[in-house]
Amino acid sequence: MKWNKQLVASGVVGFALLTGILNIYAFFHRNKGEGDLVYILFNSYALIALILGVCMVIRRQRQEKHKMDIARKRLTYLTKNLTAPAMLWNDSFTEVIFNDALSKLTDITMSDDMGPKQIVPIFFGKEDMTDEDIREIVIARNQEYSFIDSNGVPHDMIWNTSAVETNGDGVTWLLSIGTDLADIRNMQSKIATYSKQLSVSEGKHNLTMELMDVGLLLIEQNNPQLFLSEKLQKMFGLSSSTVTVDELREMIYPLDVDVFELHVDMMRRYMAYYVDRTETLELRIRSADGIYRWYAYRFRATMQNESERLAVGGTVIDISAEKEKDEIIEKAAYEDTIVGIPNRNKLMNVGEELYRRTLALNNSYWVIVMDIDRFHLINDTCGYAAGNSLLRSFANILIREMTHDGFGARISGDNFALILPDTGDEGLPERIVSKIQRVLLTKAVGNLSHRTLTCSAGYARMPEDGDSFEHVMDHAEFAISSNKKTHGSITRYTSKMHDAIILENNIETQLHEAILRNELELRYQPKVSLTTGEMIGLEALIRWRSASGELVSPGVFIPIAERSPLITRITHFVMDEACRQMQLWRTMGLPETVISINFSSTDFYQEDVCAQILNTLKKYKLKPQNLEIELTESLACKDIDVATLRMQELRDAGIQLAMDDFGTGYSSLSYLQSLPFTVLKLDRSFVVTMHEKTVVQEIIRSAARIAKAKHIRTLAEGVETQEQADMLSEVGCDYAQGYLYGHPMTAKEAEHFIRTHTIRKIV
Ligand code: C2E
Ligand code: CA
Ligand code: CA
Repeated sequence: MKWNKQLVASGVVGFALLTGILNIYAFFHRNKGEGDLVYILFNSYALIALILGVCMVIRRQRQEKHKMDIARKRLTYLTKNLTAPAMLWNDSFTEVIFNDALSKLTDITMSDDMGPKQIVPIFFGKEDMTDEDIREIVIARNQEYSFIDSNGVPHDMIWNTSAVETNGDGVTWLLSIGTDLADIRNMQSKIATYSKQLSVSEGKHNLTMELMDVGLLLIEQNNPQLFLSEKLQKMFGLSSSTVTVDELREMIYPLDVDVFELHVDMMRRYMAYYVDRTETLELRIRSADGIYRWYAYRFRATMQNESERLAVGGTVIDISAEKEKDEIIEKAAYEDTIVGIPNRNKLMNVGEELYRRTLALNNSYWVIVMDIDRFHLINDTCGYAAGNSLLRSFANILIREMTHDGFGARISGDNFALILPDTGDEGLPERIVSKIQRVLLTKAVGNLSHRTLTCSAGYARMPEDGDSFEHVMDHAEFAISSNKKTHGSITRYTSKMHDAIILENNIETQLHEAILRNELELRYQPKVSLTTGEMIGLEALIRWRSASGELVSPGVFIPIAERSPLITRITHFVMDEACRQMQLWRTMGLPETVISINFSSTDFYQEDVCAQILNTLKKYKLKPQNLEIELTESLACKDIDVATLRMQELRDAGIQLAMDDFGTGYSSLSYLQSLPFTVLKLDRSFVVTMHEKTVVQEIIRSAARIAKAKHIRTLAEGVETQEQADMLSEVGCDYAQGYLYGHPMTAKEAEHFIRTHTIRKIV
């Protein structure tokens, strides 16, 4: 509370001076009769003003404190209610709050000589913690830390730490959520023990069969009737010794009908295959008491002497108890612990099995992959608890939309998958996804309004869309990524999507020639201040005028160039051309401004990138303040240490750094907090979707607030209407760029723009 102390101090000094002056005045006028009155009046005025001033300061302090208390209470409540071990602490180490799960786990308690400053580092296996350590802890996700608690018990934990609140008083609050590795190891050892027990019981199978209730089932070749032993009739609750395949099918659990069908078909057509070969078929069948139970049919084929016909015969036993054990193991190994539905491993098993069946039974399934749009941002702005609760909601929606023979799973982070039988209805996947999207819109996230929660989906049909289940899944995922629409898209995979790859090779060859033939040009798009309306700079955007005279959009060729060494040459061209243009404008007497250049991550990882940039500036006699470099955050993901180093080098030289396209991909506010950016560029998709009072506005507001706390300015891209500009200004954006102010212009047009607008002075 530095600000308040200063205010109080200057208030007191000010009033003391004023009182002093008035006293002197009164003293000299006392003899003239009027002095006494003036003396009393001014003294009382000064006293009242002093009291009022102090009261105002105290009130303001209280209000601030109240606001902070509410925020802190919310965080404390959230921390306490997490089921995972968690602690809330701050980087000044004035406080640390443990939740019950963590207290139970470690028994580390605070005392006079063990305050937060000593305790928090213990959890990260350290004796002391510097700012640098804290930064590393926030960036490092899923890193293991080993520590020993006060009872000497060793622990291995994974901590996920996020900066959750900055008060403007320089103190950052951090929420660390832990995973106890002992739990995971326990579970793994449980699975191993169960598996062992099962294999032992498998060995005993033959023996137990003799002792248990065993039914017999005989299936003759070319005979529609199946024969049941008396025991089996009792087990299934049937009154006759024969049953038809159709009647038996009626009794089978819907999800197992396919397996049944597959075996019946095999037996009918290739009964000879089963001669002298024992096979087991496991199915859930409705029993005498009306309950579905698991049965194992162990069978083999033999030649019946009297009829010279082949027949399959075998024993049927109730294996429900074993299956129950299996289910426990399944749950441990195949269930997602956060949302409680099957995980990726399970999906792969089920999918591969279904894929095999489709080939044998000549049927097909839809494989749908879904992705919650901007999930990362919701996690960052609303907290992990809200993120997890959204994942659980999504899983519930998925389960509800699944028909009884469908299968749903969470495959990773915010990705879910659904397998549905294909009944010949081509519109089914779109209808199901649209319904999921509609229900998703009604879900609340944290305390945000929620009308723009969307998900994108890609789907494919198996077996036709891949030679294995994994391949079909890859194609469904490929379909999502091939759709340019970033939110709420539903895309059917087609083999044509691969044509794009062939096209890419052609473009790469042509682009190579284009560079040699000087077919690249620049356009300049203004950026403006939302508060003053001044132009604050120009972004250089590349264009390719192909031999036929048509303009090729960078959206087509930059991603291709980025996958080849061509990008380095392109960046070099843009940097040189843009600086040359800036120098030309200066010689023409135009006011100086800032030029922004887009850098690709490949360029940025070159060792001499900073030296090259500074050389170009020198060549055109430009100041570092004239240049801004736009980087996407994906760049930081590659090697955060190298990225930080390069960025700091540029910042030290006085060059501005903008984080481009924030809101696409895996945007993370933690990068904003840890990397030396000066501007945050919100992607156009935010502006497009913000017109309703939605979660988007809240995200922008939080992002702008977090940015502001780090002295980072926020710019919104793709502003096309005044209404958008007003709304952006209201939610805390500083700058804007878009067609409302100007399209990307030729150098000549940009020159006219600069001449006719107010340009912000470079400081
Ligand atoms: P970006 O850096 O996000 O650039 C903004 C894009 O949005 C530009 O597309 C711009 O023309 C467009 N835009 C600006 N205002 C509006 C608006 O109000 N409405 C709409 N609908 N669009 C608007 P452009 O020029 O086609 O560039 C596309 C992308 O290509 C750029 O996205 C950038 O990622 C890349 N790019 C462009 N020039 C270069 C370059 O010189 N080097 C590199 N590495 N990438 C570049
Ligand atoms: Ca850009
Ligand atoms: Ca952008």
